[in-house]
Amino acid sequence: MRKPPQNPHDLSRHDLDDILGTINEDVRQRFGEGKLPDYIPSLAEVPKDRFGMALALPDGKIHAVGNARERFSIQSVSKVYTLTLALSAVGDELWKRVDREPSGDPFNSLVQLEYEKGIPRNPFMNAGALVTADVVLSSYDDAEATLIGFMRTRSGNPEIGSDEVVAKSERESGHRNVAMANFIRSYGNLENSVDDVLAFYYLQCSLRMDCVDLARSVQYLADAGHCATSGVQVTSAEGATRINSVMMTAGTYDAAGDFAYYVGLPAKSGVGGGIVAVVPHVMGICVWSPGLDDKGNSLLGRYALHRFTRMTGLSVF
Ligand code: GLU
Repeated sequence: MRKPPQNPHDLSRHDLDDILGTINEDVRQRFGEGKLPDYIPSLAEVPKDRFGMALALPDGKIHAVGNARERFSIQSVSKVYTLTLALSAVGDELWKRVDREPSGDPFNSLVQLEYEKGIPRNPFMNAGALVTADVVLSSYDDAEATLIGFMRTRSGNPEIGSDEVVAKSERESGHRNVAMANFIRSYGNLENSVDDVLAFYYLQCSLRMDCVDLARSVQYLADAGHCATSGVQVTSAEGATRINSVMMTAGTYDAAGDFAYYVGLPAKSGVGGGIVAVVPHVMGICVWSPGLDDKGNSLLGRYALHRFTRMTGLSVF
């Protein structure tokens, strides 16, 4: 007779520390794989032999392994949090200025912008993140302090801040972002000056956090908008569901289909090698390893998430 299916959401079935230990050992065998993002010179100097992973549960408990307390540049992982701030400020009005469809194009692509008249495909590609940054700038008196305060409160770490060396490196090499912001502005889809939008965008990308900070910071998306660290309702349950859905379809550049296929979790990656992922109603996750695959996702981070969902059954599918 067929045995009744087991519920993977029952965490007492898993030895999470043992699972993290196994993944950590496997990943370390593969150190050296992947490529550093040389288009941002200061990120190309990070050692590749690093791997960290952290899980944040709704009761505040953390499980972590490897270099989970080493800080790195969060880059586009920040786009989850600026999207949350923008939606809190303007609600569904945001979707008039940025769409929520997967792009199928690289994160820094300009091609769709012209025939879609300056409305970026989604808030996670660079063009959409610039429009989202513009909304945050217009909506909060001191947008930079609001974002940094948001990250400190979500993670419980008052030391979080931006890395001026990375921000400067991005400013000096960000020719595509400058072009994109000007192009979007030419369609009237930026309210603030290109310089102000880019300054805020570089600040958000250059925030330095570690895996434990980021797992804690994304945990509200795994608990109907409730942040265990601060006890605050960050967004509504519906808001959390919607942000997760955009992460699932557009959070991992033009590899979102492949990510759904192999990992099966809403996730957002950054070219600093970090990826946050959400097991809805169960936990927030962060993995970090600096070597990237050809789409810009952490190669070993993605492998670790794939192993994790295979070993636990904790994918959404
Ligand atoms: N600051 C990076 C850029 O604008 C972010 C890229 C990313 O992490 O996706 O290119």
